[in-house]
Amino acid sequence: MKKLLLTLLLLLVVLAAILFFKTSSFKTKQITAADGKRIDFPIDETAVKHLSEAVKINTVSFDDTAVVNQLAFDSFFIFLKTEYASVFENLEDTIINKRSLLLKWKGKNETAKPVILYAHLDVVPIEETTKEKWTHAPFSGEVADGFIWGRGTLDDKGSLISIFEALKKLQANHFTPARTIYFAFGSDEEIGGNKGAAAIAEYFRQQKATFEFYIDEGGMVSNGMVPNMTRPVALIGTAEKGYVTLELSVNLKGGHSSHPAKETALDVLVSAVKKIHDNPEERRTVETVNEFMNFIGPEMPQPLKTVFANRWLFKPLILNEYEKSGEGAALLRTTSVATVMNTGVKENVIPSLVSAKINFRILPDETSKKVTDRITQLINDERVKINIGEVYEPSHQSRTDTYGFNLLQRTCAEVFPDAIVAPFLMLGSTDSKHFQDLTDNTYRFFPVRMNSELVGTIHGIDERIGVKDYMESIAFYESLLKGLE
Ligand SMILES: [Zn+2]
Repeated sequence: MKKLLLTLLLLLVVLAAILFFKTSSFKTKQITAADGKRIDFPIDETAVKHLSEAVKINTVSFDDTAVVNQLAFDSFFIFLKTEYASVFENLEDTIINKRSLLLKWKGKNETAKPVILYAHLDVVPIEETTKEKWTHAPFSGEVADGFIWGRGTLDDKGSLISIFEALKKLQANHFTPARTIYFAFGSDEEIGGNKGAAAIAEYFRQQKATFEFYIDEGGMVSNGMVPNMTRPVALIGTAEKGYVTLELSVNLKGGHSSHPAKETALDVLVSAVKKIHDNPEERRTVETVNEFMNFIGPEMPQPLKTVFANRWLFKPLILNEYEKSGEGAALLRTTSVATVMNTGVKENVIPSLVSAKINFRILPDETSKKVTDRITQLINDERVKINIGEVYEPSHQSRTDTYGFNLLQRTCAEVFPDAIVAPFLMLGSTDSKHFQDLTDNTYRFFPVRMNSELVGTIHGIDERIGVKDYMESIAFYESLLKGLE
């Protein structure tokens, strides 16, 4: 008995020693320690007016591209050329596919790989039923209560105009960047980017250009959005999930509902859909999610720091926490959800042709083909035909030990000294997918503070950007461009 107790005690001591050792060698990945103090940048009234004006020009993207208002895009370019004349004087501009804009700023070192800053200039429409619910009309660009209000302020004109403001300031100071920078502004991100980003990327492909890094929207300086973290976290998207929709269809004899066959087309379809629902993938953490923990963990209060430092022991515990929310669970597997069903015309007629669409969001360690193969095997029923709908493969997982990530981190330390930086996996999709083959280093980050309420206004009601936050965003891009080597 005594011996057993002694052994147990010894084991406990060894375990405690390992935990302690792992925790003390779990070093911060931050460049400078977050000091808790926010910088107060002076408010630039002209810059505020510019964003407000930009919001008023309703460059809305519609799924039906025939109804897109070309005039709005033309006025948007006139607005940019008028308000940022010095930028257009000094940079080379190209209009692509009538609605997208590319600017080239030649750097001092022409042999260094160029970089791209990207933003999209289209916005999503306003749902008719929600129009009345806005505090300030969605295309008013009103400035009130410390915010600039309207569609696009966060997604993504806030970023676009911040870039132009930074450019204008740098032009006024006769600044020349260390290396060549392209500023690319696509016109149809909200409907997939095929005319905008895809065409810009193709333009580069034809020139055989490759890039040191590419920056797009995606992450933000999040406030209160990372559980248990009291400091703001600058979330930089280093990967995004892929997308595939599979359409399952079954075609069996229909007929009168008074004498149904043992199994109808709808029965077969429903059991296939249920099978997919009941057999989610095993949970796992891809490289980007592990990296997120490596950046967040050392900054966590105790005992969480010990937990993150000892994932060899506590990983199931952490993943259980993640699984509690939809967003958290989506980081751990390729998700699937049934979104559309087409079946039946009359209550006393057995439908013969039925179909369902299942939307998958693919983790970066898989492909749409792997997902399709797995689902085909899982359903294992020849009566169920599987058609592949829209596909975006998941992005590659950009590294954090690169020149580009380091520059972003250094710039964050300058402009957001109160925040820590972390890479993260994006669940949604951005125009960056079109540039995948042009660079290994894709970072998705709009340097603006948001809490979950503000994030909820994107594509929703009362989208708005804090005036002070907008000043930080301008300062960020200015500092980023100055910091290029
Ligand atoms: Zn966007």
